[in-house]
Amino acid sequence: MINDPSPSGERGFSEPANAEPPIIVVGAGPAGMMAAGQAASRGAGVLLVEAMDRPGRKLRITGKGRCNITNDRPMDEFLRRFGLGGRFLKHCLHDFFAPDLRAFLASLGVETVTERGNRVFPSGNRAEEVVDALTDWTEQQSVIIKTSVRALEVIVKAGRIRGLRVKNMVTGKEDNLHAHALVIATGGMSYPLTGSTGDGYRLARHAGHSIVPLRPALVPLETEGDRARRLQGLSLRNVRASLRIAGKKGGSEFGEMLFTHFGVSGPIILTLSGRAVDALQDGKGVELSIDLKPALDEDKLDARLLRDFETHGKMRFRNLLKGLLPPLMVPICLEMTGISADKQGSQVAANDRRRLRSWLKDFRLSVKGHRPIDEAIITAGGVDLKEVNPKTMESRIVKGLFFAGEVLDIDADTGGYNLQAAFSTGCLAGRSAAAYVMRD
Ligand SMILES: Cc1cc2nc3c(=O)[nH]c(=O)nc-3n(C[C@H](O)[C@H](O)[C@H](O)COP(=O)(O)OP(=O)(O)OC[C@H]3O[C@@H](n4cnc5c(N)ncnc54)[C@H](O)[C@@H]3O)c2cc1C
Repeated sequence: MINDPSPSGERGFSEPANAEPPIIVVGAGPAGMMAAGQAASRGAGVLLVEAMDRPGRKLRITGKGRCNITNDRPMDEFLRRFGLGGRFLKHCLHDFFAPDLRAFLASLGVETVTERGNRVFPSGNRAEEVVDALTDWTEQQSVIIKTSVRALEVIVKAGRIRGLRVKNMVTGKEDNLHAHALVIATGGMSYPLTGSTGDGYRLARHAGHSIVPLRPALVPLETEGDRARRLQGLSLRNVRASLRIAGKKGGSEFGEMLFTHFGVSGPIILTLSGRAVDALQDGKGVELSIDLKPALDEDKLDARLLRDFETHGKMRFRNLLKGLLPPLMVPICLEMTGISADKQGSQVAANDRRRLRSWLKDFRLSVKGHRPIDEAIITAGGVDLKEVNPKTMESRIVKGLFFAGEVLDIDADTGGYNLQAAFSTGCLAGRSAAAYVMRD
């Protein structure tokens, strides 16, 4: 008999009498809800415990509240976005990929649309709609959902899952729950106010798993000096940002970026950030080079500058720059190129033009650090993939223990890849846990 850690959370989840579900899923994020629902839909009894007062806190804020649920790029491109983790995900993505997720959501009444960059969003543009549909579906599969219940410790006997120690976050009472199978779907450790506090790593370690060192991925970068701060709030579109690591090229991205009070953020910076974080941790110098005119090569840019300066020969250089740059960047450009603001267009000499050209193609910022993991979109590192069977998501160390979602050592770029990975690993873990307890 399961000791009742109620009261449950605000949704007032119902609990059938004398329930003794053989499967416990920890964490009601996308991975956990999918795992719980899949296991229950195969006839297994499932208890889903969630530390927060309601499910899907992080899912609610994804995609700026719009939820970029997946990406409809082909499988091979999709897998490449996960780097080495792609190989591990191959099996589970073949089982449940983007079209399956979209069809599943449509069956719950959530239609989806594809936008720029193959990103898929719910057509209602509301992450809440996804959370509600998923929670309702999970309940309809007869999953018992207990909110405000935090998993403290995994109970393992003779190499098999036997239960879970939990704490009721309302009463403070602790209890041991029996279980034959356990799915850990506790997410990473970024945005901890959403409930993803990194508990899963501790639970996994306690069960004997190794954790690949945790670090922020998709995280804003801090830059030296006050230039980024002076540009705070400015968003640049259609620029190319390139990393220079210890003086060598370290990857580049084209798109949108943003200046903040501490440095730089926005999609292309987040995508480059993983490499920057690793290099900073290795003690290497990291610089960001921004090409403000990526559509023009040096010759075309020179021709354009020459034409502008001749056409507006009497105009001051300061005013000419306003035709080339957002107003906030003009003082920075003057300062970094050393060209006099009061020079007239006709007086701008060839070597001034060369300095301006190289500044426009290579506006440099020195990266001194990154924002803390709390502010990262994703946690890189996690449960070592070598210790998890990619065909079942089962631990290779403890029988009946399964993992799903961000707690695993998988992470990808922005674009909907991470949520798809959470759903796909959740789906496979839930199905495998059901097969395990039914065989047992
Ligand atoms: C601001 C932001 C925006 C994002 N936008 C996108 C996007 O648009 N598209 C995309 O693909 N990805 C996005 N991501 C990433 C995505 O949200 C995560 O990859 C995804 O939520 C991971 O799912 P998960 O189920 O593994 O973990 P989570 O969603 O983190 O869920 C884990 C759950 O486990 C619970 N939990 C933790 N510890 C315990 C415990 N001890 N006991 C009980 N419960 C516990 C937590 O409270 C939480 O509810 C975004 C992330 C952030 C922070």
